[in-house]
Amino acid sequence: MAKNYEGCAIGIDLGTTYSCVAVWQEEQGRVEIIHNDQGNRITPSFVAFTDEQRLIGDAAKNQAATNPENTVFDAKRLIGRKYSDPIVENDIRLWPFKVIAGVDDKPMIVVKYKGQEKHLSAEEISSMILTKMREIAEAYLDSPVKNAVITVPAYFNDSQRKATVDAGVIAGLDVKRIINEPTAAAIAYGLDKKINCVGERNIFIFDLGGGTFDVSLVTIKEKVFTVKASAGNSHLGGEDIDNRMVNHFVEEFKRKNKLDISGNAKSLRRLRSACERAKRALSSMVVTTIEVDALFQGIDFSSSIARAKFEEICMDLFEECMETVDRCLVDAKMDKISVHDVVLVGGSSRIPKVQELLEEYFKGKNLCKSINPDEAVAYGAAVQAASLSEGIKNVPDVVLFDVTPLSLGIYAERDVMTVVIPRNTTIPVKKTKTCFTALENQPNVKIMVYEGERARATDNNLLGYLCLYGFPPGPPGHPFDVCFSIDENGILTVSAKDITNGNTREVTITNNIGRLSTGEIRRLIQEAEYYQAEDQKFLRKANAMNALSRYTYTMKNAMKHTNVSSKNLPMDEQKVRDAITEAENLLADNQQLEAYVFENCLNKVRSIFEPVVVKRKRARNDEVVALDE
Ligand code: ADP
Ligand code: MG
Repeated sequence: MAKNYEGCAIGIDLGTTYSCVAVWQEEQGRVEIIHNDQGNRITPSFVAFTDEQRLIGDAAKNQAATNPENTVFDAKRLIGRKYSDPIVENDIRLWPFKVIAGVDDKPMIVVKYKGQEKHLSAEEISSMILTKMREIAEAYLDSPVKNAVITVPAYFNDSQRKATVDAGVIAGLDVKRIINEPTAAAIAYGLDKKINCVGERNIFIFDLGGGTFDVSLVTIKEKVFTVKASAGNSHLGGEDIDNRMVNHFVEEFKRKNKLDISGNAKSLRRLRSACERAKRALSSMVVTTIEVDALFQGIDFSSSIARAKFEEICMDLFEECMETVDRCLVDAKMDKISVHDVVLVGGSSRIPKVQELLEEYFKGKNLCKSINPDEAVAYGAAVQAASLSEGIKNVPDVVLFDVTPLSLGIYAERDVMTVVIPRNTTIPVKKTKTCFTALENQPNVKIMVYEGERARATDNNLLGYLCLYGFPPGPPGHPFDVCFSIDENGILTVSAKDITNGNTREVTITNNIGRLSTGEIRRLIQEAEYYQAEDQKFLRKANAMNALSRYTYTMKNAMKHTNVSSKNLPMDEQKVRDAITEAENLLADNQQLEAYVFENCLNKVRSIFEPVVVKRKRARNDEVVALDE
C-alpha cells in the first residue's frame, strides 16, 4: 500500500547547475537523498524543448550539444533580476539560447517548442526543474508531494527569494520556507556531528558550486543555528574554472594549428565538456589528458594538463574565494582562530588547491569532508522541511536564524539614510522607528525605503515607498511610526502609522523597482567602505544643518508669541531676530559651507536665545528623524 507522504515536505536544493532532492524518513529517523530516473542523486538544472517534447534534467543536458538554442540552463542566474542588469547582459552574451526584454524589463527566454516560439520567464524554467524534483520524490515515495523547503544562495535578495517562491507555486508546490544554502549545509553538518552542543560552535561553510560561491559563518548552540554573516559572489564557480581551461586550450590549438576555434560554438561546447571532465580528474590526479576527435575542421585535438598548470590559470579565482572568506569573518567580527570547523560544500570545493588555500588560511585546521558536498544542502533542507511538517515527531528540532545582507532604512531630511535594520541583523526581525514631519502644516509624508551602506540615502538602492496621508495642520514634528518587518524568508514589509490618529499604510517591498543583483550587493558594500570618509563628512553637515534649522524654527515660534512689534523689542530680542536671519541665510546658501559653520552658528544662536526665553523649549537632539513631503 502506498504510504501517504502528502503532508510531509521535501527539501530541494535548486542549484544553478545541479539540483538535488531529499526527504526525511520518519521510520528510519534519517534523511534519504532521492535518486532520479537515471539513478543519479543529482539532476542537471537543464530544460530543453524540441519539436516533439520537453525534456528536463539529464535528458535535457545530454542533448544540449545538438539543440543548443533550445536548451536552457543557468535560469537561476536570471531569477528575480532585470533584463538591463549588467550581470544579466553579460550572461546573455555567453548563452547559446536567446533572452529578450519582456514586460517591466523582465528577462524572457525564447525557445522553439513544437514548432512554435515560446517566451518563458526564469521562474517558469525553475518551476519545470522543481516539478521534475517533485516527480522524482513522488516516484520514490509512491505518494503525492505538496510541500517543500527550497534553498537559495545566502546572498539572494528579496526579489530573487520571492521569484523562487513563485517558481515553487507554478510547480504546484506549497513552499513552506526558503532557506539559505549554507544554513542547510550547517544543519546537515550539525546532524552529522550529532551536535548536542556543549557551548557554542562556530562553523564556517564554504560552498563553491557550478555557478555561485557562498560563504557563511554559522553558530550552533543547543540546536539553534544562527547565520552570523555571509558573503559571496554570484558569478564564481566551476563554470568559470571551465572557461579558464577552455581559453587555455583554444590558445594551444591556435599555436599548434594556426586556427582559431573561438568563433565556433559547437567546437567550443565539445571542448568545454572535455575540460570539465579533465578538471574533475585533476582533483584526484596530478596530470590528465584531454582528447576531442575532429574538434575543428576535422582536426583531432589531444593534449594534457598538469595540476600545477591548472592551478596557475585559475589562481586568481581561488584567491578571490579567499578574499571573500576573509570579508565574511570581518563582517562576523570573528577571528579565524575562533572558527571550530570548516565545512566544504559544492562540487568545486573538491579542488585540492582550494582546500589547500583554505587550510592555510585557517592555520592548518582540518577541513570537514564527511558530508557529501553535492548533497549537504538538500539534506539540510529535508531536515528543515520535516520539522515544518505536521505529524513528524522523530525529526531533530532545529531553529533557524538568518541575517540581512544589507542595511535597510529610509530617506530622512537632507538625504540622510536612517538605518532601521542594520546589515547582518538576524531575521525574522521587526523594528519600529518613530519619525517626525519636517515641515510646518505638512499634510502627508512619502517614506522612501532604501537598502545599502552609504550615508546618503540616494546613494543606496531604492526598494520602494509608501505614503502616509492626513496629518492635521500644525508645527513640524508630528510623530509617526515606521515599522520594518522581515519574515523567515527574508521578505520585507514596511508599514507606517500616524501615532495620533492610528492611520496606517503598509507595503510589501516587491520587485517593482529595480532590485539589486547579488554582484551589486557586493559592490555596494565595497563602495561604502571606500566612501566612508566622504559619507561621514556628508552626514556631519546634514545633521548640523538639520539641527540648526530645527533650532531656528523653535526660536521663530517663540518669537511669534512675544506679541510685540519689532520696534519696541528689547535689545536682546532684536539680537535673537538677527540670529534667526543669519541662520536662515546660512541654511539657504549652504552649498560651499562646511559642517562646522552650521555647528558654530548653532552654538552662537543658542547662546543668544537661551538667556532670552525663561521657559525655553529645547530643540530636539540631532538624532531626530524628520521626513518632508
Ligand atoms: P551548484 O550548486 O552551483 O549547482 P554543484 O555544487 O552541484 O553546483 O557543483 C557543480 C560544479 O562542481 C560543476 O562546475 C562541476 O564541474 C564541479 N565539480 C564536481 N565534481 C568536481 C571535482 N571532483 N573536482 C572539481 N570540480 C568538480
Ligand atoms: Mg549548490
